[in-house]
Amino acid sequence: MKAPDTGRFDEHDLATVTEHIRLAVANGATVGKYRLEARLSEREAETADQERAEYLRDYVALLSRACDEVEPPLPPASARAWPSDRVNAAALKARVDLVMFLERRGVRFVKVGRRFQALCPLHDDHSPSFSVDPELQRWKCFGACAVSGDVFDFVQLADRVSFTEAVAIVAREATCPV
Ligand SMILES: [Zn+2]
Repeated sequence: MKAPDTGRFDEHDLATVTEHIRLAVANGATVGKYRLEARLSEREAETADQERAEYLRDYVALLSRACDEVEPPLPPASARAWPSDRVNAAALKARVDLVMFLERRGVRFVKVGRRFQALCPLHDDHSPSFSVDPELQRWKCFGACAVSGDVFDFVQLADRVSFTEAVAIVAREATCPV
């Protein structure tokens, strides 16, 4: 597959951003954090004015290529067999309890007030900085990751897969017996 065109950014910019991510990862951040940032920028580009949208798309391409340099994406072999285009993501999400889903993945929560807290499974965490809001069915890492999201965002970051693959993985893990 041809690497996306990074437009206004050149190879020097790519090297700079790649080095930045490499350093951040060496200090405990995850590449997933930057992949999520790219995805959020992609989302923002959908509603931005034309000039800003073009800038954001170049930025997303730059960031994605830098992420691939630091940590090449895993092949989606685990998700290939599942007909993910048949799965309605919103309907699936409504059926999945985020705390239960994460506990099945080995995250151990403690209930604090109305939230559930745990060591962050996305970075090397030593004090519980990962929090789930069971009402909103959203998680947030207040530590090194400094990102938040829903069950699909989590799987995308943890497994380094696309949204479509994440939906397939959630569908499989949420329905298979313990
Ligand atoms: Zn974290």
